[in-house]
Amino acid sequence: RAKADVTRAICFYELRMDEASRTRQTLARDLRRALELDQLELHYQVQTSVSTGEIRGFEVLLRWTHPERGHVPPSEFIPIAEENGLIMAIGEWVLRTACRQAASWDKPYKIAVNLSPVQFAHPDLASLVKNILTETGFDARRLELEITESTIIADKVRTLQTLRRIRELGVTIALDDFGVGYSSLDTLRSFPFDKIKLDRSFMSELEENPQAKAIVRAVLTLGKSLNIPVLAEGVETDDQLTILQTELCDEAQGFFLGRPKPVEQIFGLEGADSDADQQFSGRMPLAR
Ligand code: C2E
Ligand code: MG
Ligand code: MG
Ligand code: MG
Repeated sequence: RAKADVTRAICFYELRMDEASRTRQTLARDLRRALELDQLELHYQVQTSVSTGEIRGFEVLLRWTHPERGHVPPSEFIPIAEENGLIMAIGEWVLRTACRQAASWDKPYKIAVNLSPVQFAHPDLASLVKNILTETGFDARRLELEITESTIIADKVRTLQTLRRIRELGVTIALDDFGVGYSSLDTLRSFPFDKIKLDRSFMSELEENPQAKAIVRAVLTLGKSLNIPVLAEGVETDDQLTILQTELCDEAQGFFLGRPKPVEQIFGLEGADSDADQQFSGRMPLAR
């Protein structure tokens, strides 16, 4: 009887696994088609100076609206694209499209593009970046590439080489989701970063968890000692922003300052991001 139960459970499990892998296969096929049919879209989320509220740049976030399923989040389709290699073509599309779009803006804001560890493992990444900059006429100094610690773990020597080649172009590198990956301190010691992006989980606990606040403070001190600016991700409330101002955090990004928006909507009538403007208007910038 117990054996029959186990057998039934295994069959059920296999059925579910089949279902899951079928869904993944379907999604992979649809994603490939979406790329070919130009159905992917880029949203932009503002990054601001904590002390002045000034716009520092925009993070580029990939969006996919599936014809039947509707919005599919990147956390669902990026892993699928990484698994089957499609991330190479998608990543190239993201980079080229973002550079092309931002090249036509009135103001020379920076853009920050996420890179997958799979893209980073490719030996030609630096040449690809260089070619896209040339092709779109986009100023290298306006481009930032975001990588996470999982990128570095793969192959340290090669990653370091690629990072150097990219930085020689004038492109900057940000360490994304800092604080939740492995070997954070070794990463900072061994690799050249132009920015640290503190993972948003620290923001969500900032107000009620004294440990989270202590860690935020320590990371800000670390950033200052290493001379690397720190951006706080996931700022959702006025109180969080106030704490960041008190703690002299450099930059912030989050729903409170502006949601990711389609490119046509990021500039308000004033020519600046209106959400961020509103949040900062009437707020006295702290002296630094
Ligand atoms: P990420 O690079 O850490 O991007 C920040 C994520 O946090 C975005 O989720 C953004 O919408 C979300 N976010 C921003 N502010 C807030 C906030 O105040 N509260 C909360 N709860 N969330 C906030 P999204 O767009 O769903 O992207 C998730 C992840 O998918 C990104 O994390 C990044 O790792 C990956 N991703 C997105 N676009 C690309 C891309 O073009 N290429 C690659 N390789 N990965 C991408
Ligand atoms: Mg990012
Ligand atoms: Mg992040
Ligand atoms: Mg993330």
